[in-house]
Amino acid sequence: MKHFPIFLAVEGRRIVLSGGGDAAMAKLRLLMKTEAHLTVIASEIAPDIRKWADQGKLRIIERAMEPGDALCAALFYGANEDDAEDARVAAIAHAEGALVNIVDNLADSQFITPAIVDRDPVTIAIGTEGAAPVLARAIKADLETRLPTSLGILARIGKTFRHAVDVLPMGRKRRDFWSAFYFGTGPKALADAGEGAVVLALETLLDSHIMAEKKSGSVDLVGAGPGDPELLTLKARRALDKADVVIHDRLVTGEILELARREAIIIDAGKEGFGRAMPQSDIDALIVKHALDGHHVVRLKAGDPTVFGRLDEEIAAIEAHDIPYTIIPGITAASAAVANIGQSLTKRGRNSAVRLITGHDTKGYADHDWKALAAAGEVAAIYMGKKSARFIQGRLLMHGADPTTPVTIIENVSRANQQIIATTLAELEPTLTQADLKGPAITFYGLAPRDAAANARQLREFA
Ligand code: SAH
Repeated sequence: MKHFPIFLAVEGRRIVLSGGGDAAMAKLRLLMKTEAHLTVIASEIAPDIRKWADQGKLRIIERAMEPGDALCAALFYGANEDDAEDARVAAIAHAEGALVNIVDNLADSQFITPAIVDRDPVTIAIGTEGAAPVLARAIKADLETRLPTSLGILARIGKTFRHAVDVLPMGRKRRDFWSAFYFGTGPKALADAGEGAVVLALETLLDSHIMAEKKSGSVDLVGAGPGDPELLTLKARRALDKADVVIHDRLVTGEILELARREAIIIDAGKEGFGRAMPQSDIDALIVKHALDGHHVVRLKAGDPTVFGRLDEEIAAIEAHDIPYTIIPGITAASAAVANIGQSLTKRGRNSAVRLITGHDTKGYADHDWKALAAAGEVAAIYMGKKSARFIQGRLLMHGADPTTPVTIIENVSRANQQIIATTLAELEPTLTQADLKGPAITFYGLAPRDAAANARQLREFA
């Protein structure tokens, strides 16, 4: 590359041209597109050049060029179509510091005027270093037909919006906006309703992109409590109010789902203990997919999401995609259940600790520190303990637990069909088998209902 293409700032600067004939006119037609101050110096001036001077587009000095005429000029053109005269004027201009071009004389020129496709402010310059002017013209003709004339108008209007678009994050979001403008909204508005409509279209387009940007997805991991909608936190209600998508567990009641925003998509990701309706990895993927679609996802879990909720697996999936999330606690089954048997989870002088344990885990029946639990006064809330009741009972008795230790099973805590079954460790099985509970149940080891009489009314009659 012997010539380096640049775009020269000529606004308000001098460009001097020596010559008054056809070659001069051809160059002047191009130069008049710029915002430079043009001076034409020649002893013979063509009528068209005079006309342009009358229109204020250039200034004429009607004589042969003299030293001093090219002072402060950025560019100088020798267009006399006379080698000797062009060499003379070029020497003056060169001495006065202008960059010199002699028309049709590449060897003595310091710069080339390229073939130009003008869609101001979009300008395409084509140069062949003098090797193939025909080729340059062919490329120019091709581009002229390919680039819509509206391109310049759109680019000019777009330029006035450059700062407004700064509200969009740099990179892909901005590029998407501009390509939607230049290749969709802009040309369409111009064709349908003219230049005036383009600004409005651009504003509307920007608004919609800003809205879309604000609406980046998020996830609330929400505790739904044990079932009674009144046991929802205010935060949980608010989250449901703005939910686009609710993905809930099997244990979340219909009454609570009723509170979700009318337009929300409700997805049942219900899974049962031992054998799941939907694998956890599918649930993770579902949450992530909806959040990445820009939705506000409420992942609604029974009780408190941090208690036997597989919360951490979901958080890991969400974090892996940089999706913002919050955890909204809920009332766990154990808290709601003790309230309904008039007991405390911990009590001075009785139990200074309470264990939340699960009857089974991913490997089957869950093992615990049975020996510690077997000591007098221990209290444990056993989640998912229906199927493992016989196993737990056996382990505790084996480790020396008192067979008369109270055990209370509470099914459907906080719901209309709640039932409380008071029994003892020795009687846990067969009581549970006989009760044949269908709903979720939590078992308290070491706690009896406070009011035995009231409780008796709620006890089922066993055959
Ligand atoms: N995150 C939930 C627990 C999920 S594990 C919570 O904090 O409560 C599912 C177990 O929770 C069920 O097998 C049952 O033991 C208990 N559970 C959940 N809701 C219950 C309800 N309304 N009544 C009784 N037990 C419930």
